Amino acid sequence: MAAAASPPTSAATTARRSEGDPRLAGEADVIVVGAGPGGSTTAYHLAQSGLEVILLEKTAFPREKVCGDGLTPRAVRQIIRLGIDPTSDPAWRQNHGLRIMGGGMRLQIQWPELAEFPSYGLVRTRLDFDDILARQAQKAGALLREETTVLGPALDERTGRVVGVTARAAGSREEVVYRAPLVVAADGNSSRLATSLGVHKREDRPMGVAVRTYFTSPRHEDDWLESWLELWQQRPDGGRNLLPGYGWIFGVGDGTSNVGLGILNTSSAFGKTDYKQLLRDWLAGVPPEWGFVPENQVGQIRGAALPMGFNRQPHYDRGMLLVGDSGGMVNPCNGEGIAYAMEAGELAADVIVQALARSRDVDHELALTAYPRVLKDVYGGYYTVGRVFVKLIGNPQIMRLATRYGLPHPTLMRFTLKLLANLTEPTGGDAMDRLINAMTKLAPAA
Ligand SMILES: Cc1cc2nc3c(=O)[nH]c(=O)nc-3n(C[C@H](O)[C@H](O)[C@H](O)COP(=O)(O)OP(=O)(O)OC[C@H]3O[C@@H](n4cnc5c(N)ncnc54)[C@H](O)[C@@H]3O)c2cc1C
Repeated sequence: MAAAASPPTSAATTARRSEGDPRLAGEADVIVVGAGPGGSTTAYHLAQSGLEVILLEKTAFPREKVCGDGLTPRAVRQIIRLGIDPTSDPAWRQNHGLRIMGGGMRLQIQWPELAEFPSYGLVRTRLDFDDILARQAQKAGALLREETTVLGPALDERTGRVVGVTARAAGSREEVVYRAPLVVAADGNSSRLATSLGVHKREDRPMGVAVRTYFTSPRHEDDWLESWLELWQQRPDGGRNLLPGYGWIFGVGDGTSNVGLGILNTSSAFGKTDYKQLLRDWLAGVPPEWGFVPENQVGQIRGAALPMGFNRQPHYDRGMLLVGDSGGMVNPCNGEGIAYAMEAGELAADVIVQALARSRDVDHELALTAYPRVLKDVYGGYYTVGRVFVKLIGNPQIMRLATRYGLPHPTLMRFTLKLLANLTEPTGGDAMDRLINAMTKLAPAA
Protein backbone atom coordinates (compact mmCIF):
# COMPACT_ATOMS: atom_id res chain seq x y z
CA MET A 1 0.00 0.00 0.00
CA ALA A 2 1.45 3.37 -0.90
CA ALA A 3 1.00 6.50 1.14
CA ALA A 4 -0.72 9.32 -0.66
CA ALA A 5 1.91 11.85 0.29
CA SER A 6 4.03 11.13 -2.78
CA PRO A 7 3.47 13.60 -5.62
CA PRO A 8 2.06 12.50 -8.98
CA THR A 9 4.69 11.15 -11.34
CA SER A 10 6.63 13.60 -13.40
CA ALA A 11 5.07 12.27 -16.59
CA ALA A 12 1.61 12.89 -15.20
CA THR A 13 2.51 16.35 -13.97
CA THR A 14 3.83 17.27 -17.40
CA ALA A 15 0.63 16.01 -18.92
CA ARG A 16 -1.44 18.13 -16.52
CA ARG A 17 0.46 21.29 -17.37
CA SER A 18 0.06 20.75 -21.08
CA GLU A 19 -3.56 19.54 -21.15
CA GLY A 20 -5.28 21.22 -18.22
CA ASP A 21 -7.37 18.16 -17.32
CA PRO A 22 -6.47 17.13 -13.75
CA ARG A 23 -7.29 13.54 -14.61
CA LEU A 24 -4.28 13.44 -16.92
CA ALA A 25 -2.23 14.08 -13.79
CA GLY A 26 -4.02 11.22 -12.08
CA GLU A 27 -6.49 13.31 -10.07
CA ALA A 28 -10.24 12.83 -10.13
CA ASP A 29 -13.40 12.95 -8.04
CA VAL A 30 -13.70 9.17 -8.22
CA ILE A 31 -11.40 6.37 -9.33
CA VAL A 32 -13.14 3.23 -10.53
CA VAL A 33 -11.00 0.11 -10.65
CA GLY A 34 -12.04 -2.53 -13.20
CA ALA A 35 -14.01 -1.94 -16.40
CA GLY A 36 -16.23 -5.00 -16.24
CA PRO A 37 -20.01 -4.44 -16.22
CA GLY A 38 -19.91 -3.15 -12.63
CA GLY A 39 -17.08 -0.67 -13.10
CA SER A 40 -18.17 0.69 -16.47
CA THR A 41 -21.74 1.18 -15.24
CA THR A 42 -20.53 3.00 -12.14
CA ALA A 43 -18.23 5.20 -14.23
CA TYR A 44 -21.03 5.94 -16.70
CA HIS A 45 -23.50 7.13 -14.06
CA LEU A 46 -20.86 9.14 -12.20
CA ALA A 47 -19.72 10.85 -15.40
CA GLN A 48 -23.34 11.53 -16.39
CA SER A 49 -23.69 13.39 -13.10
CA GLY A 50 -20.79 15.64 -14.03
CA LEU A 51 -18.10 14.10 -11.83
CA GLU A 52 -14.49 13.66 -12.98
CA VAL A 53 -13.95 9.91 -13.24
CA ILE A 54 -10.92 7.78 -14.02
CA LEU A 55 -11.69 4.16 -14.95
CA LEU A 56 -8.64 1.87 -14.65
CA GLU A 57 -8.60 -1.51 -16.39
CA LYS A 58 -5.75 -3.98 -16.47
CA THR A 59 -6.69 -5.52 -19.85
CA ALA A 60 -7.25 -3.91 -23.25
CA PHE A 61 -10.63 -4.12 -24.98
CA PRO A 62 -11.93 -6.12 -26.70
CA ARG A 63 -10.99 -9.02 -24.44
CA GLU A 64 -12.47 -12.36 -23.52
CA LYS A 65 -14.11 -12.87 -20.12
CA VAL A 66 -15.21 -16.29 -18.91
CA CYS A 67 -19.01 -16.08 -18.79
CA GLY A 68 -22.22 -17.66 -20.03
CA ASP A 69 -23.00 -14.42 -21.90
CA GLY A 70 -26.65 -14.71 -20.80
CA LEU A 71 -28.54 -11.52 -19.95
CA THR A 72 -31.91 -11.67 -18.22
CA PRO A 73 -34.48 -8.84 -18.41
CA ARG A 74 -32.86 -7.42 -15.22
CA ALA A 75 -29.62 -6.93 -17.14
CA VAL A 76 -31.45 -5.61 -20.22
CA ARG A 77 -33.03 -2.92 -18.05
CA GLN A 78 -29.57 -1.79 -16.95
CA ILE A 79 -28.23 -1.82 -20.51
CA ILE A 80 -31.08 0.47 -21.56
CA ARG A 81 -30.29 2.75 -18.60
CA LEU A 82 -26.82 3.22 -20.08
CA GLY A 83 -28.39 4.72 -23.19
CA ILE A 84 -27.85 1.59 -25.29
CA ASP A 85 -30.72 0.37 -27.47
CA PRO A 86 -30.30 -3.39 -27.82
CA THR A 87 -33.10 -3.58 -30.37
CA SER A 88 -31.06 -1.53 -32.83
CA ASP A 89 -28.50 -4.23 -33.62
CA PRO A 90 -29.15 -7.96 -34.22
CA ALA A 91 -25.75 -8.72 -32.63
CA TRP A 92 -27.73 -8.37 -29.39
CA ARG A 93 -29.39 -11.79 -29.69
CA GLN A 94 -32.84 -11.58 -28.13
CA ASN A 95 -34.53 -14.42 -26.24
CA HIS A 96 -38.10 -15.00 -25.06
CA GLY A 97 -37.42 -16.83 -21.81
CA LEU A 98 -36.07 -19.98 -20.29
CA ARG A 99 -36.32 -23.54 -21.61
CA ILE A 100 -35.86 -25.98 -18.76
CA MET A 101 -34.75 -29.56 -19.36
CA GLY A 102 -35.01 -32.07 -16.53
CA GLY A 103 -36.90 -35.09 -15.20
CA GLY A 104 -37.45 -36.19 -18.81
CA MET A 105 -39.32 -32.97 -19.49
CA ARG A 106 -38.84 -29.91 -21.62
CA LEU A 107 -40.61 -26.78 -20.46
CA GLN A 108 -40.52 -23.25 -21.94
CA ILE A 109 -41.38 -20.32 -19.68
CA GLN A 110 -41.55 -16.81 -21.09
CA TRP A 111 -39.98 -13.94 -19.23
CA PRO A 112 -42.78 -12.30 -17.25
CA GLU A 113 -44.62 -9.23 -18.56
CA LEU A 114 -43.79 -6.52 -16.03
CA ALA A 115 -43.80 -2.75 -15.83
CA GLU A 116 -40.39 -2.76 -14.14
CA PHE A 117 -38.44 -4.96 -16.57
CA PRO A 118 -38.53 -5.60 -20.32
CA SER A 119 -39.95 -8.97 -21.34
CA TYR A 120 -36.91 -10.17 -23.26
CA GLY A 121 -33.40 -11.30 -22.46
CA LEU A 122 -30.23 -11.15 -24.55
CA VAL A 123 -27.07 -13.03 -25.37
CA ARG A 124 -23.91 -11.12 -26.24
CA THR A 125 -20.34 -12.35 -25.81
CA ARG A 126 -18.36 -10.57 -23.13
CA LEU A 127 -15.79 -9.86 -25.82
CA ASP A 128 -18.26 -7.34 -27.28
CA PHE A 129 -20.34 -6.57 -24.22
CA ASP A 130 -17.63 -5.29 -21.88
CA ASP A 131 -16.09 -3.27 -24.70
CA ILE A 132 -19.44 -1.61 -25.49
CA LEU A 133 -20.04 -0.73 -21.83
CA ALA A 134 -16.54 0.70 -21.35
CA ARG A 135 -16.97 2.84 -24.50
CA GLN A 136 -20.33 4.03 -23.20
CA ALA A 137 -18.66 5.16 -19.95
CA GLN A 138 -16.06 6.97 -22.06
CA LYS A 139 -18.75 8.66 -24.14
CA ALA A 140 -20.36 9.88 -20.92
CA GLY A 141 -17.05 11.53 -20.03
CA ALA A 142 -15.09 8.98 -17.96
CA LEU A 143 -11.36 8.76 -18.67
CA LEU A 144 -10.60 5.11 -19.43
CA ARG A 145 -7.06 3.88 -18.90
CA GLU A 146 -6.63 0.37 -20.31
CA GLU A 147 -3.62 -1.87 -19.63
CA THR A 148 -3.29 -0.26 -16.23
CA THR A 149 -3.08 -2.66 -13.31
CA VAL A 150 -4.02 -1.35 -9.90
CA LEU A 151 -1.57 -2.59 -7.29
CA GLY A 152 -3.30 -1.45 -4.12
CA PRO A 153 -4.97 1.44 -2.32
CA ALA A 154 -3.14 4.67 -1.58
CA LEU A 155 -3.81 5.56 2.04
CA ASP A 156 -3.75 8.79 3.95
CA GLU A 157 -0.97 8.17 6.48
CA ARG A 158 -2.78 10.05 9.23
CA THR A 159 -6.33 8.74 8.88
CA GLY A 160 -5.78 5.40 7.12
CA ARG A 161 -8.43 6.44 4.62
CA VAL A 162 -8.29 5.44 0.95
CA VAL A 163 -7.35 8.51 -1.07
CA GLY A 164 -6.47 6.83 -4.35
CA VAL A 165 -4.69 3.82 -5.79
CA THR A 166 -1.25 2.86 -6.99
CA ALA A 167 -1.06 1.41 -10.47
CA ARG A 168 1.33 0.37 -13.17
CA ALA A 169 0.82 0.65 -16.92
CA ALA A 170 1.65 -2.36 -19.09
CA GLY A 171 5.27 -2.34 -20.15
CA SER A 172 6.24 0.23 -17.54
CA ARG A 173 8.06 -0.27 -14.25
CA GLU A 174 6.87 3.04 -12.89
CA GLU A 175 4.31 3.00 -10.08
CA VAL A 176 1.80 5.79 -10.54
CA VAL A 177 -0.48 7.20 -7.86
CA TYR A 178 -4.03 8.08 -8.93
CA ARG A 179 -5.80 10.22 -6.37
CA ALA A 180 -9.45 10.78 -5.55
CA PRO A 181 -11.51 11.21 -2.39
CA LEU A 182 -13.41 8.03 -3.31
CA VAL A 183 -12.42 4.76 -4.93
CA VAL A 184 -14.73 2.08 -6.32
CA ALA A 185 -13.39 -1.49 -6.30
CA ALA A 186 -15.09 -3.18 -9.25
CA ASP A 187 -12.14 -5.48 -9.83
CA GLY A 188 -13.99 -8.77 -9.77
CA ASN A 189 -14.06 -11.86 -7.59
CA SER A 190 -10.42 -11.75 -6.41
CA SER A 191 -10.57 -8.00 -5.69
CA ARG A 192 -6.97 -7.30 -4.95
CA LEU A 193 -8.05 -3.84 -3.85
CA ALA A 194 -10.55 -4.97 -1.21
CA THR A 195 -8.21 -7.68 0.01
CA SER A 196 -5.32 -5.27 0.47
CA LEU A 197 -7.59 -3.10 2.59
CA GLY A 198 -8.35 -6.14 4.75
CA VAL A 199 -11.86 -6.73 3.41
CA HIS A 200 -11.92 -10.51 2.99
CA LYS A 201 -14.39 -13.13 1.81
CA ARG A 202 -16.97 -14.56 4.18
CA GLU A 203 -16.89 -18.33 4.32
CA ASP A 204 -20.53 -18.56 5.41
CA ARG A 205 -21.84 -17.40 2.04
CA PRO A 206 -22.60 -19.56 -1.00
CA MET A 207 -20.01 -19.86 -3.70
CA GLY A 208 -20.20 -21.40 -7.14
CA VAL A 209 -17.81 -22.56 -9.80
CA ALA A 210 -18.71 -22.41 -13.49
CA VAL A 211 -16.98 -23.54 -16.68
CA ARG A 212 -17.85 -22.83 -20.27
CA THR A 213 -16.71 -23.05 -23.86
CA TYR A 214 -18.12 -22.33 -27.34
CA PHE A 215 -19.10 -24.72 -30.14
CA THR A 216 -20.05 -23.98 -33.71
CA SER A 217 -23.55 -25.38 -33.72
CA PRO A 218 -26.82 -25.39 -35.70
CA ARG A 219 -28.38 -24.27 -32.42
CA HIS A 220 -26.61 -20.91 -32.46
CA GLU A 221 -29.84 -19.05 -33.31
CA ASP A 222 -31.89 -20.53 -30.47
CA ASP A 223 -34.01 -17.70 -29.07
CA TRP A 224 -34.53 -19.32 -25.68
CA LEU A 225 -31.98 -19.64 -22.88
CA GLU A 226 -31.77 -23.37 -22.21
CA SER A 227 -30.89 -24.80 -18.82
CA TRP A 228 -30.40 -28.45 -17.88
CA LEU A 229 -31.25 -29.17 -14.28
CA GLU A 230 -29.76 -32.62 -14.06
CA LEU A 231 -26.01 -32.79 -13.79
CA TRP A 232 -24.87 -36.24 -12.75
CA GLN A 233 -21.49 -37.07 -11.30
CA GLN A 234 -20.19 -40.65 -11.59
CA ARG A 235 -19.11 -42.13 -8.25
CA PRO A 236 -16.21 -44.60 -7.92
CA ASP A 237 -18.71 -47.21 -6.64
CA GLY A 238 -20.56 -47.09 -9.96
CA GLY A 239 -23.45 -44.98 -8.64
CA ARG A 240 -24.00 -41.33 -9.47
CA ASN A 241 -24.76 -38.10 -7.61
CA LEU A 242 -27.14 -35.38 -8.71
CA LEU A 243 -25.25 -32.10 -8.34
CA PRO A 244 -26.74 -28.75 -7.27
CA GLY A 245 -26.38 -26.52 -10.30
CA TYR A 246 -27.28 -26.50 -13.96
CA GLY A 247 -25.88 -26.76 -17.43
CA TRP A 248 -26.68 -24.12 -20.04
CA ILE A 249 -26.83 -23.82 -23.81
CA PHE A 250 -27.06 -20.21 -24.99
CA GLY A 251 -27.16 -19.45 -28.71
CA VAL A 252 -24.87 -16.54 -29.50
CA GLY A 253 -26.26 -16.06 -33.03
CA ASP A 254 -22.82 -15.81 -34.65
CA GLY A 255 -22.56 -19.49 -35.58
CA THR A 256 -21.67 -20.56 -32.03
CA SER A 257 -23.37 -21.56 -28.80
CA ASN A 258 -22.01 -20.82 -25.34
CA VAL A 259 -22.20 -24.10 -23.42
CA GLY A 260 -21.30 -24.46 -19.77
CA LEU A 261 -22.28 -25.50 -16.30
CA GLY A 262 -22.22 -24.11 -12.79
CA ILE A 263 -22.13 -25.96 -9.47
CA LEU A 264 -22.78 -24.69 -5.95
CA ASN A 265 -20.59 -25.28 -2.92
CA THR A 266 -23.49 -26.75 -0.94
CA SER A 267 -22.86 -30.29 -2.16
CA SER A 268 -20.22 -32.67 -0.83
CA ALA A 269 -18.84 -32.93 -4.39
CA PHE A 270 -17.80 -29.27 -4.43
CA GLY A 271 -14.06 -28.82 -4.81
CA LYS A 272 -13.59 -32.54 -5.50
CA THR A 273 -15.05 -32.48 -8.99
CA ASP A 274 -13.29 -32.13 -12.33
CA TYR A 275 -15.71 -29.55 -13.73
CA LYS A 276 -14.28 -29.65 -17.24
CA GLN A 277 -14.75 -33.42 -17.34
CA LEU A 278 -18.26 -33.00 -15.95
CA LEU A 279 -19.03 -30.70 -18.89
CA ARG A 280 -17.64 -33.25 -21.36
CA ASP A 281 -19.65 -36.06 -19.70
CA TRP A 282 -22.87 -34.07 -19.86
CA LEU A 283 -22.35 -33.14 -23.51
CA ALA A 284 -21.57 -36.75 -24.43
CA GLY A 285 -25.23 -37.44 -23.67
CA VAL A 286 -26.87 -34.67 -25.76
CA PRO A 287 -28.01 -35.23 -29.37
CA PRO A 288 -24.93 -35.40 -31.66
CA GLU A 289 -26.65 -33.27 -34.33
CA TRP A 290 -26.31 -30.26 -32.02
CA GLY A 291 -22.60 -30.40 -32.76
CA PHE A 292 -21.21 -30.17 -29.23
CA VAL A 293 -18.25 -32.37 -30.13
CA PRO A 294 -14.50 -31.66 -29.84
CA GLU A 295 -14.13 -30.92 -33.59
CA ASN A 296 -16.56 -28.00 -33.28
CA GLN A 297 -15.19 -26.62 -30.03
CA VAL A 298 -13.99 -23.01 -30.30
CA GLY A 299 -11.42 -22.21 -27.62
CA GLN A 300 -10.65 -23.92 -24.35
CA ILE A 301 -13.03 -24.86 -21.57
CA ARG A 302 -12.42 -22.11 -19.05
CA GLY A 303 -13.81 -21.58 -15.59
CA ALA A 304 -14.04 -19.11 -12.72
CA ALA A 305 -15.71 -18.62 -9.35
CA LEU A 306 -19.16 -17.17 -8.73
CA PRO A 307 -19.09 -15.15 -5.48
CA MET A 308 -22.65 -15.07 -4.12
CA GLY A 309 -24.98 -13.61 -1.54
CA PHE A 310 -22.69 -10.71 -0.45
CA ASN A 311 -19.69 -12.88 0.35
CA ARG A 312 -17.40 -9.89 0.84
CA GLN A 313 -18.39 -7.15 3.27
CA PRO A 314 -18.46 -4.37 4.33
CA HIS A 315 -19.41 -2.84 1.01
CA TYR A 316 -18.16 0.55 2.15
CA ASP A 317 -14.99 1.05 4.15
CA ARG A 318 -12.72 4.11 4.60
CA GLY A 319 -13.35 5.74 1.23
CA MET A 320 -13.76 2.54 -0.83
CA LEU A 321 -17.01 1.07 -2.19
CA LEU A 322 -17.31 -2.48 -3.53
CA VAL A 323 -19.37 -3.07 -6.68
CA GLY A 324 -20.27 -6.40 -8.34
CA ASP A 325 -18.23 -9.58 -7.89
CA SER A 326 -15.75 -7.80 -5.61
CA GLY A 327 -18.63 -7.53 -3.12
CA GLY A 328 -19.93 -11.06 -3.85
CA MET A 329 -23.11 -9.88 -5.55
CA VAL A 330 -23.94 -12.88 -7.77
CA ASN A 331 -27.51 -14.11 -7.30
CA PRO A 332 -27.25 -17.46 -5.45
CA CYS A 333 -30.46 -18.69 -7.09
CA ASN A 334 -29.35 -18.57 -10.72
CA GLY A 335 -25.66 -17.57 -10.87
CA GLU A 336 -26.44 -14.30 -12.62
CA GLY A 337 -23.92 -11.58 -11.80
CA ILE A 338 -23.98 -9.00 -14.58
CA ALA A 339 -27.31 -7.37 -13.72
CA TYR A 340 -26.37 -7.14 -10.03
CA ALA A 341 -22.94 -5.64 -10.76
CA MET A 342 -24.60 -3.03 -12.97
CA GLU A 343 -27.37 -2.25 -10.48
CA ALA A 344 -24.87 -1.92 -7.65
CA GLY A 345 -22.81 0.39 -9.88
CA GLU A 346 -25.78 2.68 -10.32
CA LEU A 347 -26.61 2.60 -6.60
CA ALA A 348 -22.97 3.36 -5.71
CA ALA A 349 -22.91 6.26 -8.18
CA ASP A 350 -26.08 7.76 -6.64
CA VAL A 351 -24.58 7.62 -3.15
CA ILE A 352 -21.22 9.04 -4.29
CA VAL A 353 -22.87 11.97 -6.08
CA GLN A 354 -24.73 12.86 -2.89
CA ALA A 355 -21.65 12.43 -0.70
CA LEU A 356 -19.38 14.58 -2.86
CA ALA A 357 -21.95 17.36 -2.88
CA ARG A 358 -21.54 17.75 0.91
CA SER A 359 -18.83 20.06 2.17
CA ARG A 360 -18.40 18.92 5.79
CA ASP A 361 -16.42 15.67 6.20
CA VAL A 362 -18.86 14.33 8.72
CA ASP A 363 -21.82 14.84 6.36
CA HIS A 364 -19.91 13.36 3.46
CA GLU A 365 -19.16 10.23 5.48
CA LEU A 366 -22.74 9.96 6.65
CA ALA A 367 -23.94 9.97 3.04
CA LEU A 368 -21.55 7.11 2.20
CA THR A 369 -22.92 4.87 4.95
CA ALA A 370 -26.10 4.74 2.87
CA TYR A 371 -24.45 2.44 0.30
CA PRO A 372 -24.22 -0.80 2.34
CA ARG A 373 -27.62 0.01 3.83
CA VAL A 374 -29.29 0.42 0.44
CA LEU A 375 -27.67 -2.80 -0.80
CA LYS A 376 -29.02 -4.67 2.18
CA ASP A 377 -32.48 -3.12 1.74
CA VAL A 378 -32.64 -4.01 -1.95
CA TYR A 379 -31.01 -7.47 -1.99
CA GLY A 380 -30.44 -8.58 1.63
CA GLY A 381 -33.72 -10.46 2.13
CA TYR A 382 -33.60 -11.96 -1.36
CA TYR A 383 -30.06 -13.26 -0.88
CA THR A 384 -31.07 -14.81 2.44
CA VAL A 385 -33.88 -16.66 0.64
CA GLY A 386 -31.23 -17.63 -1.94
CA ARG A 387 -29.00 -19.10 0.75
CA VAL A 388 -31.85 -21.27 1.99
CA PHE A 389 -32.53 -22.35 -1.59
CA VAL A 390 -28.92 -23.36 -2.31
CA LYS A 391 -28.74 -25.25 0.97
CA LEU A 392 -31.88 -27.18 0.09
CA ILE A 393 -30.80 -28.12 -3.42
CA GLY A 394 -27.39 -29.15 -2.03
CA ASN A 395 -29.30 -32.21 -0.80
CA PRO A 396 -29.54 -34.55 -3.84
CA GLN A 397 -32.84 -35.99 -2.62
CA ILE A 398 -34.51 -32.59 -2.45
CA MET A 399 -33.03 -31.66 -5.85
CA ARG A 400 -34.40 -34.90 -7.32
CA LEU A 401 -37.86 -34.37 -5.82
CA ALA A 402 -37.95 -30.75 -6.98
CA THR A 403 -37.15 -31.70 -10.59
CA ARG A 404 -39.50 -34.67 -10.63
CA TYR A 405 -42.53 -33.05 -9.02
CA GLY A 406 -41.95 -29.36 -9.79
CA LEU A 407 -41.44 -29.45 -13.54
CA PRO A 408 -44.83 -30.93 -14.49
CA HIS A 409 -46.58 -27.89 -12.95
CA PRO A 410 -46.36 -24.86 -15.28
CA THR A 411 -47.80 -22.40 -12.72
CA LEU A 412 -45.33 -23.55 -10.10
CA MET A 413 -42.52 -23.24 -12.65
CA ARG A 414 -43.62 -19.70 -13.62
CA PHE A 415 -43.45 -18.83 -9.93
CA THR A 416 -40.03 -20.50 -9.66
CA LEU A 417 -38.70 -18.54 -12.65
CA LYS A 418 -39.87 -15.26 -11.13
CA LEU A 419 -38.29 -16.20 -7.82
CA LEU A 420 -34.97 -17.52 -9.15
CA ALA A 421 -34.50 -14.75 -11.72
CA ASN A 422 -35.69 -12.12 -9.21
CA LEU A 423 -38.23 -10.72 -11.65
CA THR A 424 -41.20 -9.22 -9.85
CA GLU A 425 -42.83 -5.81 -9.74
CA PRO A 426 -41.24 -4.04 -6.74
CA THR A 427 -44.69 -2.91 -5.60
CA GLY A 428 -48.11 -4.33 -6.45
CA GLY A 429 -47.87 -6.94 -9.17
CA ASP A 430 -49.71 -10.25 -9.29
CA ALA A 431 -50.18 -12.77 -6.46
CA MET A 432 -46.85 -14.43 -7.27
CA ASP A 433 -45.02 -11.09 -7.13
CA ARG A 434 -46.63 -10.23 -3.81
CA LEU A 435 -45.76 -13.60 -2.29
CA ILE A 436 -42.13 -13.40 -3.43
CA ASN A 437 -41.80 -9.80 -2.24
CA ALA A 438 -43.30 -10.73 1.13
CA MET A 439 -40.84 -13.63 1.53
CA THR A 440 -37.83 -11.47 0.72
CA LYS A 441 -39.05 -8.67 3.01
CA LEU A 442 -39.58 -11.05 5.93
CA ALA A 443 -36.20 -12.75 5.52
CA PRO A 444 -33.38 -11.14 7.53
CA ALA A 445 -30.94 -9.21 5.30
CA ALA A 446 -27.84 -11.16 4.20
C1 LIG B 1 -18.41 -19.51 -16.34
C2 LIG B 1 -19.22 -18.34 -15.87
C3 LIG B 1 -20.44 -18.08 -16.46
C4 LIG B 1 -21.20 -16.97 -16.07
N1 LIG B 1 -22.37 -16.74 -16.73
C5 LIG B 1 -23.06 -15.63 -16.44
C6 LIG B 1 -24.21 -15.30 -17.23
O1 LIG B 1 -24.56 -15.99 -18.20
N2 LIG B 1 -24.91 -14.18 -16.90
C7 LIG B 1 -24.54 -13.39 -15.84
O2 LIG B 1 -25.24 -12.39 -15.56
N3 LIG B 1 -23.45 -13.67 -15.11
C8 LIG B 1 -22.69 -14.75 -15.39
N4 LIG B 1 -21.54 -15.02 -14.69
C9 LIG B 1 -21.13 -14.07 -13.62
C10 LIG B 1 -20.53 -12.80 -14.23
O3 LIG B 1 -19.51 -13.16 -15.14
C11 LIG B 1 -19.96 -11.87 -13.16
O4 LIG B 1 -20.85 -11.80 -12.08
C12 LIG B 1 -19.72 -10.46 -13.72
O5 LIG B 1 -18.71 -10.50 -14.69
C13 LIG B 1 -19.36 -9.49 -12.61
O6 LIG B 1 -19.02 -8.24 -13.15
P1 LIG B 1 -17.96 -7.29 -12.39
O7 LIG B 1 -17.90 -6.04 -13.19
O8 LIG B 1 -18.27 -7.21 -10.96
O9 LIG B 1 -16.57 -8.08 -12.46
P2 LIG B 1 -15.70 -8.59 -13.76
O10 LIG B 1 -16.62 -8.82 -14.88
O11 LIG B 1 -14.90 -9.68 -13.21
O12 LIG B 1 -14.83 -7.34 -14.08
C14 LIG B 1 -13.71 -6.99 -13.30
C15 LIG B 1 -12.79 -6.15 -14.17
O13 LIG B 1 -11.72 -5.66 -13.35
C16 LIG B 1 -10.49 -5.81 -14.02
N5 LIG B 1 -9.45 -5.91 -13.00
C17 LIG B 1 -9.26 -6.91 -12.12
N6 LIG B 1 -8.22 -6.64 -11.31
C18 LIG B 1 -7.75 -5.41 -11.71
C19 LIG B 1 -6.67 -4.60 -11.28
N7 LIG B 1 -5.87 -4.99 -10.28
N8 LIG B 1 -6.45 -3.44 -11.90
C20 LIG B 1 -7.25 -3.04 -12.93
N9 LIG B 1 -8.29 -3.77 -13.39
C21 LIG B 1 -8.54 -4.95 -12.78
C22 LIG B 1 -10.69 -7.10 -14.84
O14 LIG B 1 -9.78 -7.17 -15.91
C23 LIG B 1 -12.14 -6.95 -15.29
O15 LIG B 1 -12.25 -6.25 -16.50
C24 LIG B 1 -20.76 -16.12 -15.03
C25 LIG B 1 -19.53 -16.38 -14.42
C26 LIG B 1 -18.76 -17.47 -14.82
C27 LIG B 1 -17.44 -17.72 -14.16
